[in-house]
Order: sequence, then structure tokens, then C-alpha cells
Amino acid sequence: MTGLARKALALQRYVAAAARGKANAGSCPACGHRTLFVEVGPWLRDQYRCLRCQSVPRHRALLVALEEELPDWRTRTVLEPAFSGPASSRIAKEAASYTGTHFFPGVERGAVHRGFRVEDLHELTFADGSFDLVVTQDVFEHVLEPDRAFAEIARVLRPGGAHVFTVPVWPDLTESVVRARRGSDGAVEHVLPQMFHGDPVSNGALVVTDWAPADLLAYIEDVSGMSSRYWRVVDRSRGIDGEHLEVVLSRKP
Ligand SMILES: [Zn+2]
Repeated sequence: MTGLARKALALQRYVAAAARGKANAGSCPACGHRTLFVEVGPWLRDQYRCLRCQSVPRHRALLVALEEELPDWRTRTVLEPAFSGPASSRIAKEAASYTGTHFFPGVERGAVHRGFRVEDLHELTFADGSFDLVVTQDVFEHVLEPDRAFAEIARVLRPGGAHVFTVPVWPDLTESVVRARRGSDGAVEHVLPQMFHGDPVSNGALVVTDWAPADLLAYIEDVSGMSSRYWRVVDRSRGIDGEHLEVVLSRKP
């Protein structure tokens, strides 16, 4: 399907949903415009969309959390591994310095591949204290060794710097569930049946961890020394409603 045909189809869905009354007016934190937020399906996390920029609630939650918790973020140096979508576009456009990266298996770290800087969150090529802010969006459920990745983020942050991120946190879990891990031979070892999510640069990203709200923050502190808290808001006037809308704010001491 062409981009134009996809847009026409999306518009049709929006009009149909709006006609059923599944829409509300508001102001979109992702595109910055007055808009209509439309429920195109029951899973609001992916299906409560801005008519203008197609953003979903987690994009808007991340930007509002940034605005409220780090109001001077635009003056900062920002790193975003696995960047994608309207929130990344806005941060890239407005931040004083923005480095977006992607991981490609088998490609040298630090190189440019298909127009993207290549980085592996387990072993970043940046010097200690290179950034004021690291942003990740729905990445940490896919990282094979999250302990190493959180520690790497802490390493490349300046003291006082922040990691602001979205990740699905499962309210009914009392303990995080490891679905896969690095085996002793270095290959992926599947502990539970494989699950995949969409991914901006590959066919699908393996879900590695189902995070539980009770232990994620303690885990981050334990492996990286950063202290963290949840930011949660439900606000339909800004298009923020649905499942798993926590934003995690971690600070390097
Ligand atoms: Zn928008």
C-alpha cells in the first residue's frame, strides 16, 4: 500500500470513529496543534490517535512529562537510542543537540548505516558524561541485558542528568518476568514462548522482560545507581489515556 493510500485509509477510520462519538477535542503535546483525539479501536495505547500527527498516548505522555519535570530540556544535549515516531521528531527538532541512534546486528558500533548512527545500548561508544538527557521509548522491554543498558545510560549521562523513558509496566505483576536472556554461549536463550513487537528498523523486536511496577525502580537503582520514579497522568484534553502510560524519570546523582 502506498503512503497516500495508507493516509486515506487512516482518515476514513478516523472519520468513522468520530461519527460514533469516539473522539474528543484537545491540544496535542506531540504536534503542538489543536486536534481531535480519536479512538480507532479498543486498545487505547495504540489506537487513541491524534488526527493531525498520528501520535499515540505514550508519545504525548513522554512530552508532557519532559515539559513538566525538565522544563529546560530544549537547552540540553539529548541522546535517543532507537528513536522513532512523532515524539522523537519533536525532540530532535527542538533540542539544542540531539543524537538519534539505531542498533543493527553485525554492524560496527559508531558507524553510520542506512543513514543512522549505529549504537548498542549494552556498550555505547560515547564518552562518560556526554549527555544531559537520554530518552528511550518502549525500548527496555526488548533489551537483552537491561542491567548493562541502564548502567551504560548512567555512564554517558552527566551528574544530575536524566533518563526519561516509556516502557510497558504490567500492573498485575508483582515481580518482573524474564522472557529471554543471554545464554552462556552469547546467543539468546528463550525462557518463555517468544513474543514480538513492531520495531522501526527490523521486522519485529523480541520482548525480553515484562516489567512489574513494584520492582522496576529498585532494579534501575541497583544496576545503575540512578534513582527513579513514575510520572503518571490521565488527561483526555492532552490525549493521555489508555494502558501502560507510565513515564519513568531516572536521575544520575
Ligand atoms: Zn498531534
